[in-house]
Amino acid sequence: MENEKKIVGHCPLCGGNVVKTCKGYRCENALGEHSTCQLNINALLGNRKMSDDEITELLTKRRMLLDGFVSKEGKAFSTVIVLSDTGTVDMQPVIAVCPHCGGDIRVSNRAFNCSNFANEANKCGFSIWRNIGGHQLTLADAQEICEKGITSVEVEMFREDGSIYRKRLGLSPDKLQVVKI
Ligand SMILES: [Zn+2]
Ligand SMILES: [Zn+2]
Repeated sequence: MENEKKIVGHCPLCGGNVVKTCKGYRCENALGEHSTCQLNINALLGNRKMSDDEITELLTKRRMLLDGFVSKEGKAFSTVIVLSDTGTVDMQPVIAVCPHCGGDIRVSNRAFNCSNFANEANKCGFSIWRNIGGHQLTLADAQEICEKGITSVEVEMFREDGSIYRKRLGLSPDKLQVVKI
């Protein structure tokens, strides 16, 4: 009789089942002596415990914006984790090119900021709040604003009285502000 296993998703490398193990998550074809796959994801990433649901999403989307990581120095940080074609999980905090100055846009816990904000030679104040009108911006929203100048769809936002309105988010003409369009 086969042992019962908890399957959290499918392996993007080989299509096999990804199962929960004592240390994390592993492709069934990456188990045992004759393994043909190498997908093995540690449950603890950047001192943050991944949930089963997050692993399921990562296996499908391959790329996720997450908060709550902690550096060796004990500082909390946010980043984008990427499941690579070789099965490794990499952190990629740079999410786009700054539309104002061409610098790197990096994710932080409250905003997507231009990395030239403190560069005296080429100072740039461009940033996108991660929460606009109660809408939590997705990675795709932020990338579309930077790359296309506007989100592809209207996002749902909320007024103080709780009423809902929908607008697209885009760049102001000087490419320094995010405006509701
Ligand atoms: Zn696999
Ligand atoms: Zn910039």
